[in-house]
Amino acid sequence: MSGARYWRHQDQRYNMAGNECGVCGSRFFPGKTMCPNCHRRSVGKMKKFYFNGNGKIITYTIIHEGSLQYRNQVPYLLAIIELEEGDKVLGQIVDCEASDLAMGKKVEMVFRKLGEQGKSGTIQYGYKFILK
Ligand SMILES: [Zn+2]
Repeated sequence: MSGARYWRHQDQRYNMAGNECGVCGSRFFPGKTMCPNCHRRSVGKMKKFYFNGNGKIITYTIIHEGSLQYRNQVPYLLAIIELEEGDKVLGQIVDCEASDLAMGKKVEMVFRKLGEQGKSGTIQYGYKFILK
């Protein structure tokens, strides 16, 4: 199955799958195999958890130098997002200007095409954030 087809047949909820520790209730995105708080006690007790994707900006920065992956997108906005349901993630904020951003602003996770890779033309998707 090609990468593109694989993604096309998945709904968004599936893509926002993380997990929750069955011992202490901590939630992780992306999911972890072991809870960093409970260590071995959490093995086999990590449950699937679907994040609603809502969060707020903790801090953000404007990147002017693109890595290979982002070179055609500079400058771009990178932020640490605190998810409403737990965990913090580093993500790109899209569809807005740097002047629109502020700490504490509400954002929503979206899935976007990241780029196409190599001759195979495999389309890669990943999560990004938009202002709510
Ligand atoms: Zn735990």
